[in-house]
Amino acid sequence: MTGESILIESASLRGRPGLHDITVDAGAITAIEDAGSTRQSADVVIDAGSGLVTESFCNAHLHLDKVFTLARLGDHALDFYQGEGMGQAMSAIDAAAEVKRSQDADQMLALVRRATAMAAFYGTTHIRAFADVDSKAGTRGVEVLCAVRDEFSGIVDLQVVAFPQDGIIKEPGTVELLHKSIDIGADVVGGIPWIEFTENAMQEHVRIAFDLAAEYGKDVSMLLDDAGDPGLRTLEMMAVEAISRGWHGRALAHHCRAMELYPMPYLERLVALLREARVSIVSDPHTGPLHARVAELLAAGVNVVLGQDDISDAYYAFGRNNMLEVAFLGAHLLWMMTRDGQETVYDMVTTRAAESMGVADHTLAVGNPAHLVILPVPDVTEALRFQPTPLAVVSHGALVDRGGMAAIGGIPGH
Ligand SMILES: [Zn+2]
Repeated sequence: MTGESILIESASLRGRPGLHDITVDAGAITAIEDAGSTRQSADVVIDAGSGLVTESFCNAHLHLDKVFTLARLGDHALDFYQGEGMGQAMSAIDAAAEVKRSQDADQMLALVRRATAMAAFYGTTHIRAFADVDSKAGTRGVEVLCAVRDEFSGIVDLQVVAFPQDGIIKEPGTVELLHKSIDIGADVVGGIPWIEFTENAMQEHVRIAFDLAAEYGKDVSMLLDDAGDPGLRTLEMMAVEAISRGWHGRALAHHCRAMELYPMPYLERLVALLREARVSIVSDPHTGPLHARVAELLAAGVNVVLGQDDISDAYYAFGRNNMLEVAFLGAHLLWMMTRDGQETVYDMVTTRAAESMGVADHTLAVGNPAHLVILPVPDVTEALRFQPTPLAVVSHGALVDRGGMAAIGGIPGH
């Protein structure tokens, strides 16, 4: 995939005046020069036509094993998670479990391939993808996601998370299934401690996840405090555990919606812990009525990013794996619509997202891996306005076959 050389001509870049040419060779960015000054030839030449070229999109949170399952759940499945104050978030998890009992691997595979191709089509090259591991699904989700990860290798990097959606303590047998998942090929140890029945069980859930992470040398990704209960404290538990294990920068926090209800003195203490543990937060303000305190976290120097979270499942009706759409929604819901706010939102689906996922060197600079989008608009404001289909996508230094991705993805009009 890294054999061809690519010359992108007449590109607008963020934060640099004028137009530039970008050269890609052997998987890496090899030159960024003033437009028209490049003398080298290339296997592929793309005229950006003054369009914006940036790092490709990274999606730090997607329940990829559940995509497009809403149709099987009935009209009222969304009532629980979307309800006022999120008091019935647990009921949404129960509704989603119904699908798992009836869906087979082939059905899931087709839907997962579709969503992954959509991501590639819209310029996403890295996804942290969650697969449920529990007594209903066993390790089916991990098996399917690992197969799709291998199929899309070089196009979309899937980081497969073995995710104990229904708990570890209250779901006997899950620890064994998590071991099996990692043996099958899962990349990341998941967790969801807030759904356990007691504080002690939540703490135990966190401890078990880090035991697994330490045993296999894996990163951790946990869904935390995902309900309208200001008493939930599992983000704190994860940060403390990360520090005590030396897992700084290797534990990623998702949702943390209860944070919106925390009193200020507690939030300040929590922020100090997050900074020490180098925990990034993935927020998805478009999929639920509460969200993490993104502005305060960013101002305090905590890395915050945006994720797609769901695509047509028991939690969220919409989504097409277009991270510009996620950024546009985030700009509104997080009230980040100033010029600086727009630029930060764009970082939250590109460079900041990459950092949160452990994707190294994901900045548009000479010597770094070439994961790029070429957009048909000149700047970030226009990118957010139109959420356009890219002119081209470069992943691992190679052009993505966007026609092929549109066909698998079933993109209307393509
Ligand atoms: Zn989620």
